Amino acid sequence: MSTVTTPKAQVPDIAGQITYAMRSMGVAPIPRNYSLFYEAYIGSNPALTRELAALGSKATQEELDALGDQYFDHNHGRIIETAHDKVRSELESLLSLLQHEQNSMENYSKLLVETVARISNKNITSNNIVGSVIKVLQDATGNTAAHGEKTAQSVSRHSEEMNQVRQELDEYKRIANTDSLTRLSNRRAFDEKLSSLFDSSIGLHLTSLVLLDIDHFKRINDTYGHPVGDKILATVGNLIRSNVRKDVFVARTGGEEFAIILEGNNVDEVMTICERIRLSLENTPFRNSRSGTDYGPVNISIGYAMGSQASGPGELYAQSDTALYHAKETGRNRSIFFEEGMQKNYVGKNWLIYK
Ligand code: GH3
Ligand code: MG
Ligand code: MG
Repeated sequence: MSTVTTPKAQVPDIAGQITYAMRSMGVAPIPRNYSLFYEAYIGSNPALTRELAALGSKATQEELDALGDQYFDHNHGRIIETAHDKVRSELESLLSLLQHEQNSMENYSKLLVETVARISNKNITSNNIVGSVIKVLQDATGNTAAHGEKTAQSVSRHSEEMNQVRQELDEYKRIANTDSLTRLSNRRAFDEKLSSLFDSSIGLHLTSLVLLDIDHFKRINDTYGHPVGDKILATVGNLIRSNVRKDVFVARTGGEEFAIILEGNNVDEVMTICERIRLSLENTPFRNSRSGTDYGPVNISIGYAMGSQASGPGELYAQSDTALYHAKETGRNRSIFFEEGMQKNYVGKNWLIYK
């Protein structure tokens, strides 16, 4: 496996590239492998990327799992896979039950057809024959009713189990899509949401992608330490969340980077929202109440683009990122709207592509 770098704008299909990389390494296409490659792909952890590359094309599942265990909590991935298996097997038994039921209903209707044919036979005069026909009908009806009841009980037991599994699955999905530090959506959820915007052919003229990046955050970490940095990240996350409507999608997409997807606001309204967030952060004191240490000011740069400007999620992300880059380049602590012709004359954060 070798790595090359390319600007984000040229990488529209992240999922496709990851799947391609996995396939070319002969890695099983299961969720926990995907998340491992995903982390390596976005380059969030250079050591992980290096070690994954070192495994080469002969990586065994055990080696991949060991890497996953070492670098991130991948229990959720496994739990989701197990829950999926449970749902699948519940569905299979339900299906075979219904299949069985259908077969016995078919026998029953065959029996009815035969019985009707016998009754309409004008030669039927004997009480015996009529009596036996009634008995056949009774048996058939009784059997079906008893069987139906059993089936109903079975179906309800299976659906209860399935409901429970589904609830567990929902909970694990929620955890797997949540950033543990800020409780916002995480990068995985963001990628899904961003791609889904382009699933329908409805125009995206009132949809925007806002990217926010804390200014000089490294200095805060370097001066006050990582734990303080974490607290500040959580506070900034809260502050962004509290400045938009409850149903608005907000994610922490990376270290000190956040994203908002607004649906239903035009360019000017989005600018108003961006400025509201920026100013409320600017005016928020970051102080340790016990020691009195002042960590501030904490500022943020913001770039955004409208969905209608882009042909897909990759392009929309690149445009918002370009606007964010301009906000950084022109002094930070500002909001900038992407406009055609804006160029990003640097190769932002490099993307790793497996070949
Ligand atoms: P700029 O204004 O150009 O954005 O500068 P910056 O210092 O904010 O950006 P840079 O990308 O140079 O540094 C980002 C820093 O964020 C580096 C890293 O230590 C820190 N960081 C990333 N993730 C976390 C995290 O989860 N917790 C903490 N405390 N820091 C993090
Ligand atoms: Mg950054
Ligand atoms: Mg930053």
